[in-house]
Amino acid sequence: MSDLRDLYQELILDHNKRPRNFKKLEDANRSAEGYNPLCGDKVKIYARLEDGRVKDVSFEGSGCAISKASASVMTESLKGKTVAEVEALFKRFRDLVTGKEAGAPEADLGKLVVFSGVCEFPTRVKCATLAWHALAAALQGKDEAVSTE
Ligand code: ZN
Repeated sequence: MSDLRDLYQELILDHNKRPRNFKKLEDANRSAEGYNPLCGDKVKIYARLEDGRVKDVSFEGSGCAISKASASVMTESLKGKTVAEVEALFKRFRDLVTGKEAGAPEADLGKLVVFSGVCEFPTRVKCATLAWHALAAALQGKDEAVSTE
């Protein structure tokens, strides 16, 4: 299990160093900002929704390694998904990082599973879910900033 942990750690550090989809999405039709005052993480999510599906998604922001890597992995996990699928995935991700996910957490969570270790660090849960909260607000068409507090 510790080898797996090391691998997860490495993946998180890699996404922090080289975040994917880290840019402003010029043709975005949804966006929202999120702020985690506990850690100082800030994120802005851009999304292009077409026919109820996420066509493209990107982010900008600054924060700790967990918040940045989480946003990066999230953007990689969402393309082509419907809004309902995104919401279901958010729920499972939240269960994963809060340790509520029972049974086989790996099933269809894909790369998101690298954040399973977060449940051992309750203060980092908000770092890991910040981008998801902002994304949920963006998809609901809320334009105001969301805060984890
Ligand atoms: Zn943080």
